Amino acid sequence: MDEFDAIRRFWEPLGEAVRHPWVVAGIGDDGAIVRLPSDQELVLSVDTLVEGVHFPGGMNPHALGWRALAVNLSDLAAMGATPICYTLALTTPALDEDWLSSVAAGMAELAGDYGIQLVGGDMTRGPLTLTLQVQGAVPVGLALRRHGARPGDLVCVSGTLGEAGAALDYLTAIVEEGSHAGAVRQRYDFPLPRLSLGEALRGRASAAVDISDGLLADLGHITSASHCGARIESEKLPLSESLRALTGDRALSLAATAGDDYELCFTWPSSAGPLPTEEETGVPITVIGEIEKEPGIRYTRDGRVLEVARAGYSHFSE
Ligand code: ADP
Ligand code: MG
Repeated sequence: MDEFDAIRRFWEPLGEAVRHPWVVAGIGDDGAIVRLPSDQELVLSVDTLVEGVHFPGGMNPHALGWRALAVNLSDLAAMGATPICYTLALTTPALDEDWLSSVAAGMAELAGDYGIQLVGGDMTRGPLTLTLQVQGAVPVGLALRRHGARPGDLVCVSGTLGEAGAALDYLTAIVEEGSHAGAVRQRYDFPLPRLSLGEALRGRASAAVDISDGLLADLGHITSASHCGARIESEKLPLSESLRALTGDRALSLAATAGDDYELCFTWPSSAGPLPTEEETGVPITVIGEIEKEPGIRYTRDGRVLEVARAGYSHFSE
């Protein structure tokens, strides 16, 4: 099998399985063509997953395909964008048919759920790396940004936090379905991008990010961009049963600082009215604190500010 066979067998079918009405030309030409209605803005985001850095060597290829698309869709969710299409640059040491077919199946499953069309890509030989670029749309001026938070806004998160971080202990273990370890592994392998929530927040939330590096680190992006600070009450962080059962005393610190959950963190001004409900967006929302004028994040327990040593994941820090 050469590169062109692989495109025909795995990527063209994926490009045909989901057709987005705005895509004029997808896979098969030197570039894809997308026509955007004049009342929409394009939102672009790219993310790379490197074996051994962003996922463990030998990761289940079905989960890998899902996860590679999910982490990119999560960026669109954080912008309040609706998915349109994506491109896939795949670097692999070899063209293994079974492996490629499972990666494609994992990607197809999620792409189908959210109606995002594969419109092009590239294949090269080298250490296993997947780079996806996703494109979405928002009505002009309504994208969610990091810089709009103001003192008095509520700080909110979706879902529960820390499980993907807890899963790092179980990545190479065989876990039973239905067990706590199985539940946290599911969160790591098959993250659910919060696209309906992102869409419900646009024009209402004052700022938003997705939690890829850890709650406190990612909230820090909002407070810096918004020139303000925040007070977060540790008691309010939403923890799952599985996280508590598996990690005991470590549960809170995982929820505050571990990455990979891909929930949304956003700020909500009182002028925006009641928060969106779980019925509307498919995910519960928890208020965990408030935006304050003074810069920095004050993370509290019983009203006292705690020191947080390692606020999140950074590839280049010492
Ligand atoms: P070019 O040489 O012009 O860059 P290629 O021969 O590499 O084009 O690719 C042929 C077509 O297949 C292009 O439309 C390209 O976007 C698409 N393609 C290549 N690799 C992938 C991939 N991994 N996923 C989706 N589409 C791909
Ligand atoms: Mg070309």
